[in-house]
Amino acid sequence: MRAIGHFIGGKEVKGTSGRTADVFEPMTGDVQAKVALASKAEVRAAVENARAAQPEWAATNPQRRARVMMKFLELVQRDYDKLAELLAREHGKTVPDAKGDIQRGLEVAEFACGIPHLMKGEYTEGAGPGIDIYSMRQPLGVVAGITPFNFPAMIPMWKFAPAIACGNAFILKPSERDPGVPMKLAELMMEAGLPAGILNVVNGDKEAVDAILDDPDIKAIGFVGSTPIAHYIYERAAQTGKRCQCFGGAKNHAIVMPDADMDQTVDALIGAGYGSAGERCMAVSVAVPVGKTTADRLMEKLIPRVESLKIGTSIDPAADYGPLVTREAVEKVKSYIDIGIKEGATLAVDGRGFKMQGYEKGFYLGGSLFDNVTKDMRIYKEEIFGPVLSVVRAHDYQEALALPSEHDYGNGVAIFTRDGDAARDFAAKVNVGMVGINVPIPVPIAYYTFGGWKKSGFGDLNQHGPDSVRFYTKTKTVTSRWPSGVKEGAEFSIPLMK
Ligand code: NAD
Repeated sequence: MRAIGHFIGGKEVKGTSGRTADVFEPMTGDVQAKVALASKAEVRAAVENARAAQPEWAATNPQRRARVMMKFLELVQRDYDKLAELLAREHGKTVPDAKGDIQRGLEVAEFACGIPHLMKGEYTEGAGPGIDIYSMRQPLGVVAGITPFNFPAMIPMWKFAPAIACGNAFILKPSERDPGVPMKLAELMMEAGLPAGILNVVNGDKEAVDAILDDPDIKAIGFVGSTPIAHYIYERAAQTGKRCQCFGGAKNHAIVMPDADMDQTVDALIGAGYGSAGERCMAVSVAVPVGKTTADRLMEKLIPRVESLKIGTSIDPAADYGPLVTREAVEKVKSYIDIGIKEGATLAVDGRGFKMQGYEKGFYLGGSLFDNVTKDMRIYKEEIFGPVLSVVRAHDYQEALALPSEHDYGNGVAIFTRDGDAARDFAAKVNVGMVGINVPIPVPIAYYTFGGWKKSGFGDLNQHGPDSVRFYTKTKTVTSRWPSGVKEGAEFSIPLMK
């Protein structure tokens, strides 16, 4: 059986804690590897390697750091197919979807190639007599990223690419459910010319996470995962004074206005609701048709589409989506469907009975669709994270606007309409971090920033785009005066820039 260790000091090392976790192949349900779970001492070893290597990397000029990133882009492209298949086999998503996972991460590495420009400071000549002021961005030192199972390539790259380009050393703690691709990415960074110790991968669970939280040499933590853990990490990091950004769960609504193009909207809802088996933080999990006629038209078109979803193995090129990540994930989603029925929602399509012929042990689930969901129900309030779409019928636009705005989560939201005025009003007023107008999954492109509001994100800065450079650097401001600007005598009152 494949054994996955850690990546420390530029090479893969075996785990020494004696603890491991099973890595499944969701499409067959078999255990395909054992991943080591790091102890506090193993995390410390990674941090010491990182700390020793970081000053020289920070002193390497930004163009050279960018060149490593450029080479990395090339190497990931070279290994694209192999990486995508490994990712699909560990996560469960289909190969084309796995390619998207890699690509959207790579775009952030591509953005990080602009680091010489992105790290430029500001300069003001003559801010006072003989006085010039300038600012510079400096790396933080050793920083860490803790990432979820659902984007095992994209989110690690969102974290380590800008951090490393800024001159930091990085400790990545990926999800223990699909650690294979993060380990390969670390190898490729080495092949691209990154010095040993600058990117370390420690595999593990809560023990490794707590060791990261307590380590005095780790200056910042970027987390992505479920809201309870995001909140826990944010609180603990604040106690030890670490810079921290934590992105959590979601309940993304799609508002369907009466004038929306219904065929395009249904296509969008099917892809965004059921793609990747709904295991995306930007999946649409709530559709809100406005008015009874819109709702009835929507349901009429949605039901046959959900019933005819093609569920297949991760390597089936014709599959709409593949298995979920674990058996527990399947059971959790099924239990939410039971809850929805008990709460009085109408189960218009029931995916619980789906069986994949020849893969009976795999973690498959058919698509489910609820109608008449109301805002007091748990299936509306909580994140299900599976192939389940809930339809909440709104009487008018104001009610539809209020639903995502008042929801605890605030990651993404979309509106489907042909009315520019309604779309503009919605984008301005909705209390959610990322908005799509006729775009169901509004993940901003790499040079903009990504971040949810409310319980979907704790911390001040977003991921990728210019915020990533702000997050992984600290600003130093220098005020300088030269003899021509110096007045004679001591100044006892606060100096003014006259
Ligand atoms: P998770 O919270 O279970 O795990 C995320 C990370 O935290 C993993 O590395 C895991 O090992 C670690 N972890 C788990 N339990 C822990 C504990 N008790 N103490 C310390 N660390 C712990 O999340 P997941 O199931 O891997 O990912 C799915 C979740 O991530 C969903 O809620 C999804 O919405 C969210 N997500 C959010 C975004 C976003 O940008 N907002 C993006 C992707 C996924």
